[in-house]
Amino acid sequence: MGAPGCGKGTQAQELVQKFGFLHLSTGELFRKKYANKNEKAKQGKASIDKGGFFSDEIAYQIIQDFITENPEARIVFDGFPRDITQASYFLEHISAQPIVIKLEADEEKLLQRLLDRGRQMHREDDSSEAIIRRRLALYHELTVPVIQFFKEKHLLHTVSGEGEIDEIALRIEKLLNTIA
Ligand code: AMP
Repeated sequence: MGAPGCGKGTQAQELVQKFGFLHLSTGELFRKKYANKNEKAKQGKASIDKGGFFSDEIAYQIIQDFITENPEARIVFDGFPRDITQASYFLEHISAQPIVIKLEADEEKLLQRLLDRGRQMHREDDSSEAIIRRRLALYHELTVPVIQFFKEKHLLHTVSGEGEIDEIALRIEKLLNTIA
């Protein structure tokens, strides 16, 4: 878990390499495989290009397809669950005891990082400050309550997302070695 641009995707990839987990990024899979699938997905694409979310229904489909294709895998979820409805779905249908890691980062730095990423990767949703601010606002409104929800269930672990990629990866590795 963590704000847009905090390094979730990068750190998920580190976990893939170190622990052999599979990386499930709902945002990335949506962009690669689902964005043009049907009318609902096209509406989802229009929504995320403006800084919004795609529907829970699409998110569940992405996840269920992935699990069906990789039934034995240990999975790093990146970008899911994003709101309380998805979080309840997660605990009920996917895992009742997930290890939840929150990466903490300074949001003003994230804004700049996302603008740079938008330029490099031509991502619509990272292309303007107004869109990024909308995503940060949605993160506060809908995703921060999920972090609180996991905290109350004693499932949450917090790691500083500041510093070099390797340093942050080491913090997460240490955490996993102490709890797993
Ligand atoms: P990301 O690649 O994680 O930054 O996701 C890109 C965009 O996809 C996000 O800004 C959301 O609009 C959308 N998205 C990703 N995951 C979800 C999800 N679980 N539910 C709804 N929308 C999502």
